[in-house]
Amino acid sequence: ALRSIAAGKDVAPLVLVEGAVLGGGAFSRVSIVTEEATGRQYALKRMRKAAVVQCPEHVFCEQAITRNTAHPFCIRQYASFQDKYHLYLLFDLMSGGDLMDVLVAEARVIRRRIAQGAWRRACLAPKVKMLKGMEEDLARFYIASIVLALDYLHAHAIVYRDLKPENVFIDQQGFVKLGDFGFAKVLESANRTYTFCGTPGYVAPENVLAHGYNTSVDWWGLGVLLYVLLTGRQPFSSPKTDDPMVVMRRIVDDNWHIKYPPYLSPAAKDLIARLLERKPARRLGMLAGKAADVKRHRWFDSVDWGALEAR
Ligand code: ADP
Ligand code: MG
Repeated sequence: ALRSIAAGKDVAPLVLVEGAVLGGGAFSRVSIVTEEATGRQYALKRMRKAAVVQCPEHVFCEQAITRNTAHPFCIRQYASFQDKYHLYLLFDLMSGGDLMDVLVAEARVIRRRIAQGAWRRACLAPKVKMLKGMEEDLARFYIASIVLALDYLHAHAIVYRDLKPENVFIDQQGFVKLGDFGFAKVLESANRTYTFCGTPGYVAPENVLAHGYNTSVDWWGLGVLLYVLLTGRQPFSSPKTDDPMVVMRRIVDDNWHIKYPPYLSPAAKDLIARLLERKPARRLGMLAGKAADVKRHRWFDSVDWGALEAR
């Protein structure tokens, strides 16, 4: 059913016609909307006020951060408004799905639903039961864009904290944008934050150990994401276990080694290993050159960073 929403009294009236629902969960629902005046399409995220009180900081962070960020590879927020029962955020419409969809299509694997448990659902298990990931050239196209997005966010003292295929969206042109800023945070002057958050298979050791962390967790997350894209599985889970406690014990255990499938190129293995360095101070992205060190890694040799950034 189509529905019109008048957004705000103080701004020029924005009339949106609601279309198909794209997704959502317990707290939110995302649907396609069309701006009546221009015919432009957006994604409208609707959150119930009754639910917002359960995790207000995620809502505040997503609202404040996406309102102030402007980067070709980060989802942009165009408006925020409310009605009696809901808060709304208007975003770029990402009509190409997310990187998990790409992975699943790539491996032609039948989706399997895991029946129960938020932890299990949060792990990779539900959508991916597969042998092999995407080609390295294809992964590079996506990962390079994410490197630029992280570089931009970190330069603005924002940690993203929830890098995973489900949060990397694809637009109509096929380019990626980082979305779902619910866990993102602006770092205070002390430049350290302690809250344990993220998704079990993707959290950095310093996050698990509550040592205090900063942008280092995103470079770790990038390493996990790259591994997942190239292999179709998570580095710290195994076919036998996706128990989050076991996975997190492996993440912090210096003696537990990641297995690299033989088809990975030496450059890809090296990049993953340098990003999945357990000591934040020694991790690629955290060394003297910061993000520039990541961009200079030989796995990215073919990337024209300047042209990509100028998109
Ligand atoms: P939550 O914070 O509840 O996880 P998300 O922001 O991840 O909400 O959105 C939930 C789902 O809605 C996503 O997994 C995706 O399928 C869809 N979605 C969210 N934002 C967009 C967007 N900008 N364009 C298209 N689909 C989107
Ligand atoms: Mg989400």
